[in-house]
Amino acid sequence: MSLPVHLQSRYLPLGDQRTGRLYGQDVLSVSQFCRDDLEYIFGVAEAMRTMVAHIGTVDLLKGKILANLFYEPSTRTSSSFAAAMERLGGSVIQINEVRYSSVAKGESLPDTIRTLESYADVIVLRHPETGSAAIAAQHGRKPIINAGDGIGEHPTQALLDLFTIREELGTIDGLTVTMLGDLRYGRTVHSLARLLSLYNVRLNYVAPEILRMPAELLEQLNAKGVHQAEYDTLDPVMAETDVLYVTRVQKERFADISAYDAVKGAYVITPETMARFPSRMALMHPLPRVGEIAPEVDSDPRAAYFRQMEFGLYVRMALLAMVLGKA
Ligand code: ASP
Repeated sequence: MSLPVHLQSRYLPLGDQRTGRLYGQDVLSVSQFCRDDLEYIFGVAEAMRTMVAHIGTVDLLKGKILANLFYEPSTRTSSSFAAAMERLGGSVIQINEVRYSSVAKGESLPDTIRTLESYADVIVLRHPETGSAAIAAQHGRKPIINAGDGIGEHPTQALLDLFTIREELGTIDGLTVTMLGDLRYGRTVHSLARLLSLYNVRLNYVAPEILRMPAELLEQLNAKGVHQAEYDTLDPVMAETDVLYVTRVQKERFADISAYDAVKGAYVITPETMARFPSRMALMHPLPRVGEIAPEVDSDPRAAYFRQMEFGLYVRMALLAMVLGKA
């Protein structure tokens, strides 16, 4: 069925846009990107990085307003989007605690989106339900950026993760990426594995049995010919790992807290663990960490997680500028 005319621009492949990549589009899933799009986004992000280092703030998005709507806790995603908008000269309506908005009175997501788009030019949305960003986009006229939809996706995190890998190791093709921890509920690894499938990579998944990567995702990537292997310990993959992507066990997704308690400390990266990895590799984590990486590891030059969160600012500046037609 063809899309209604008013929705067509959202779902057209990026290259079909008339006024710049991503202009007026939603960012809902990493599946909407091809490699060429990623190179373009990373190029803009590099330019943003240089701009921040030399000037700090510009007025590229002066007069534009971002509604930053968070139904779930966030530190980095929320504040980096706000900082990104302000560094580009725009302003932000910040709704971090929906308890104090009309959501607490029972307002539906579509009505909240309709409200915010009356005031703002772009909406960043974090919501506990998978598919919520897509629903918001169906009901809204302004671009929606998915900042995490439950256990579904976190596309802007995956973009900054890839940008980080490129910055740290100079390439993505040819790498072996090992994802560790909560691969079942961790939306960051769902998006990252999908995005990495555009490259020539080997993916290792290390998780306790109950936190394995969803079968549906494994099948999708298998169908694309991606090399994937599953393990329950790190030992067999340490020597070949170029990127170790550690995740937090997502306590908030467990119905049974005793199941969480049974797996929460399953893997902890210490200086002793790091000694067994290659001398050139990157240790990443979307953060927050709650014990998976010992603080003693922070001084290891391979520990990339704090640089990773800084890169999030530049990637999100690039996305806002592109979605609003200014890059
Ligand atoms: N901050 C990331 C997310 O929102 C990772 C995490 O919470 O563990 O998915």
